[in-house]
Amino acid sequence: MEHVYQEITHITAEKNIMLDELLKNHTYTRLGGKADILVTPETFSEVQELVKLARRENIPFTLLGNGSNMIVKDGGIRGIVMSQKQFQNIRVESGTIFAQSGAAIIDVSRRALKERLTGLEFACGIPGTVGGALFMNAGAYGGEIKDVLEEAVVVDREGTLLTLPAEDLDLEYRTSNIPDKGYIVLEAKFKLQPGKYEDIKVIMDDLTYKRESKQPLEYPSCGSVFKRPPGYFAGKLIQDSELQGKGIGGAEVSTKHAGFIVNKNNATATEYISVIELVQKTVKDKFGVFLEREVKIIGEDADAETVKSVKQN
Ligand SMILES: Cc1cc2nc3c(=O)[nH]c(=O)nc-3n(C[C@H](O)[C@H](O)[C@H](O)COP(=O)(O)OP(=O)(O)OC[C@H]3O[C@@H](n4cnc5c(N)ncnc54)[C@H](O)[C@@H]3O)c2cc1C
Repeated sequence: MEHVYQEITHITAEKNIMLDELLKNHTYTRLGGKADILVTPETFSEVQELVKLARRENIPFTLLGNGSNMIVKDGGIRGIVMSQKQFQNIRVESGTIFAQSGAAIIDVSRRALKERLTGLEFACGIPGTVGGALFMNAGAYGGEIKDVLEEAVVVDREGTLLTLPAEDLDLEYRTSNIPDKGYIVLEAKFKLQPGKYEDIKVIMDDLTYKRESKQPLEYPSCGSVFKRPPGYFAGKLIQDSELQGKGIGGAEVSTKHAGFIVNKNNATATEYISVIELVQKTVKDKFGVFLEREVKIIGEDADAETVKSVKQN
């Protein structure tokens, strides 16, 4: 990896490159072992160069948003992991919001309120980045990214910068073609409607109240772990299996919302995944229903020693 590190120093400043960086310090879930190289580019052209480098050297390239919809295993991620933390800019031009991929979608929603623009209220409690929100067409309470996205600036697998109309991303219920096409979203253009500050605020306050009263937001988690099985509710099946409060190590089925597994006390990904499997097995045994995971699990398995060191660090 040394020669790759050297190559990256020709693309971005050394302060933007971290070796053997623990990803639990960069994910909303507070889970994840080490990335070989974690790079935080500052410009879109740096991203283009990084994509070209990874392609040329045949190195795995993984994109990290806020890590609120995926679990990184304790063995970490080989190759290059790209963080978008330096792409935070949000700007407004006559009723249109341009938000860079690393900006929190919650902040974009708050900015819309400030500008008296309506349409993004649904996103006011989704703890992901703009990039992560486009990737899975995030949505809540009847709204979704598809309703408000006009265009996206992306980099494709060849490292080419493209501006695509929203239709080209095939946004559907919690999916898009972004993973299949290998696009890296760098900026989103949201078309919103003029509204009244008070009306927008009332909706956002209501949705925030609903979330805070139902979701265990005091602990890290990856949100709803399972998809809704046809004809059932995952949360109800878990509740009826008396799994709430059951845990392994620092991970536990939330007592507040059965569909959430919380990282209550410095859990490792191994512990968190074991709780997922415990829930799947128990519900299957009791009700004959298999709960399919909604969140992605990525990275490498770890031996006991590595898991221990992830926990201690
Ligand atoms: C408490 C809680 C509540 C939640 N509520 C909701 C909800 O109401 N509705 C909802 O839809 N989701 C919800 N989620 C899930 C999650 O917040 C969203 O899916 C969010 O959009 C993920 O964004 P992220 O930045 O965290 O993505 P990450 O988890 O970091 O990444 C998810 C995927 O997106 C890819 N990705 C990230 N950035 C980019 C980019 N720039 N270009 C291309 N691909 C990219 C990653 O490679 C990865 O495959 C919730 C999660 C939590 C923890």
